Amino acid sequence: MGWAISKTKSVICVGKAQCIKRVKMAERCVFCRIVAGEIPADIVYQDEDLLAFRDIMPQAPTHVLIIPKTHITSVAELTERQANLVGRLIIVARNLAKKEGVAGKGYRLAINCGPEGGQVVPHLHLHLLGGRQMDAKLG
Ligand code: AMP
Ligand code: ZN
Repeated sequence: MGWAISKTKSVICVGKAQCIKRVKMAERCVFCRIVAGEIPADIVYQDEDLLAFRDIMPQAPTHVLIIPKTHITSVAELTERQANLVGRLIIVARNLAKKEGVAGKGYRLAINCGPEGGQVVPHLHLHLLGGRQMDAKLG
């Protein structure tokens, strides 16, 4: 079972019928709509599986979101088989930090999970924040 972006740029399911519910969720998801090209974004990187774009309300001079192109709601939904994908999210963030010129002084990577974790958009995303001193307090 899996997901794909059709030539008409809509999110389609390429697996079993049970995933129809997830297709509908993905159609509504703002980040899936960015992946599908339905909502504009300032894209800074993409490959077959991952997309990175600038946050619309940046909290630092560099604020990039790195996401899987497939709809994964949060860290809570990850499977063991997606461990490599998550590792690549971090590697892409590391590479973008260098490209953005913030690697030398340092940067913050953050993933919010669920309402109390501060997650607003229900599509897994890694925040890359840099270009200013980060607050010591995380909460
Ligand atoms: P979180 O609170 O971890 O779910 O973060 C969601 C982030 O997505 C916030 O920093 C928002 O500013 C950002 N965001 C929401 N909609 C968009 C969008 N259309 N394009 C870029 N960033 C967005
Ligand atoms: Zn999504």
